Amino acid sequence: MSTSNVPGEIVNDRLPRTINKRVMLIVVLSAILILLGSITLTSFTYWKKTPPYITSKTPGTTHTIRTVHTHIPTPKPTVMPTQTTVHAPPLSYPLFNGNTHIPEIALTFDDGPSPFYTPQVLAILQQYRVKATFFDVGYLVADYPNIVRQEHNNGNIVANHSWSHPVLTYLSAQAIQSQLTSTTNIIQATIGVRPTFFRPPYGAINNTVLAQARNLRYTTVLWDESAADWNLPGVNVIVSRTLYYARNGAILLLHDGGGNRAQTVAALPIIIATLKSRGFKFVTIQQLVDDLVVPLP
Ligand code: ZN
Repeated sequence: MSTSNVPGEIVNDRLPRTINKRVMLIVVLSAILILLGSITLTSFTYWKKTPPYITSKTPGTTHTIRTVHTHIPTPKPTVMPTQTTVHAPPLSYPLFNGNTHIPEIALTFDDGPSPFYTPQVLAILQQYRVKATFFDVGYLVADYPNIVRQEHNNGNIVANHSWSHPVLTYLSAQAIQSQLTSTTNIIQATIGVRPTFFRPPYGAINNTVLAQARNLRYTTVLWDESAADWNLPGVNVIVSRTLYYARNGAILLLHDGGGNRAQTVAALPIIIATLKSRGFKFVTIQQLVDDLVVPLP
């Protein structure tokens, strides 16, 4: 190679100038074609990869699709406990009973806590491994906080039965609100949990009572039948009435406070043992409400 070439002349003295020009043209055209081709190929590859439904059609990815299908039933059992643990908002209607397709019964005890009878009721529930719901009177919660803590610690539900057990339908909206709120506060201060279930004394309800309960985010709970144990009809009568009323989803009303409850305490083990032998499961009001939405098999 010589450094004395004419400026602009191609540094290749073995080929004539015309051939050099043709070669240049071919090289340039080829370069352009290669460039265009690579751009097109890149674009095609990009679009081919982008939509997921295209890659899922390739044989290599069918296994992934099958894996996804086999995993679909898996979330169902994990979803069910979530539905039962995440509690729904309060019911907009008074609850008289639970799901009539499920053999479960909610035992409910009103008018406590009583320093004499509630511990006996709690011991029987523990002995039979049964959970129940206690509709406590606010001023008694203030008097016997340790018994209420025991109710809660044993896995029972502590619920609101007003502060002083008046006939709420005789009261103003403001007085009803006061009865409910003060009881809410004392229960929350005692067990650290805000109650979500309310039962009006004597089952006395009207639109004002129900509206106040709803405003405070309570589900109002009544009962479908009562053995009238408060009237002291005798142990055998309490047992026979309760067994007669027991059915799927029943809310049974008994009393652990408000008077002499020795008959109720004596009847309770017989009631629990008999209904268990008939295949019933005892649940809290919370469980009863959660099971309202369980679909039929
Ligand atoms: Zn009562």
